[in-house]
Amino acid sequence: MTHVSAVVAVFAAALLGLSTACASSPPSAAPSTTSTAPGIAAPSPSGSPAPPPSTAPAPARPKTTSPRPAPSGRAPSTPGAPTALVTTTADSGRYVALTFDDGPNPTYTPQILALLERYGVHATFCEIGDAAEDYPGLVREVAADGNRLCDHTMTHDEQLGTRTWEQIYAQITDGKQTLRSISGASVLYYRQPGGNWTAAIQQIAADDGMQNLSWSVDPRDWSMPGTSTIVARVEANLRPGSVLLMHDGDGDVPPGGGDRSESVAALAILLPWMIAQGYHFDFPA
Ligand SMILES: [Zn+2]
Repeated sequence: MTHVSAVVAVFAAALLGLSTACASSPPSAAPSTTSTAPGIAAPSPSGSPAPPPSTAPAPARPKTTSPRPAPSGRAPSTPGAPTALVTTTADSGRYVALTFDDGPNPTYTPQILALLERYGVHATFCEIGDAAEDYPGLVREVAADGNRLCDHTMTHDEQLGTRTWEQIYAQITDGKQTLRSISGASVLYYRQPGGNWTAAIQQIAADDGMQNLSWSVDPRDWSMPGTSTIVARVEANLRPGSVLLMHDGDGDVPPGGGDRSESVAALAILLPWMIAQGYHFDFPA
């Protein structure tokens, strides 16, 4: 579950003048918080005609292994989605995209859904296959409410990039199929646990028709820094086009982890704040 994004955290901490416990965390594979450049074009997940491909370069993408040459942003002849990481909203106006990881969770997912419904907001939920099998009703509820589903592997393997091709393929494709068979909904995105992307992971997910969904704002809510800190980090870093990472589930709960009540409380503050700031809500693309 550890969405280790020390770069983001350090950036946020610097902005806030905070000294966080994140400083000793492993290096991040997350993109910069400033990576909000519009025009990282990808086919519309809704299936509508795709816009012309952007000529903008793909965002820098860390890789820990390279089983094959790193794609420069688009696979040359894959029938699936582009391999590039998605870090922006589909629309380039004053939009943000909310994403929630590691659910479904019987305690927190319903609270998140209730908040989203109260404000008429839709989000993307990156769900773990094993948790989905434990709580299929929640998966269906997430989709029925108009939210989108995102494959987050079967077991939240943050070291997936070090596994064999067959193991990577199984984690990604089984995760997608689990969410799809439970919900009946399309699974449009894949998000690598921990943000530990590799070329193989991105290619397999793209070949399975999913966009590789990263993020651009990470308040590290999973580390339970306090509701006010989560709120402050988001308020300091949110920009038009931002993809915000938060958590409704507990993933592979670290010692003392797993409590998402701060995330819920922060969202209750952030949703009216975002609306007051003139933000509208979109899906990533
Ligand atoms: Zn996760």
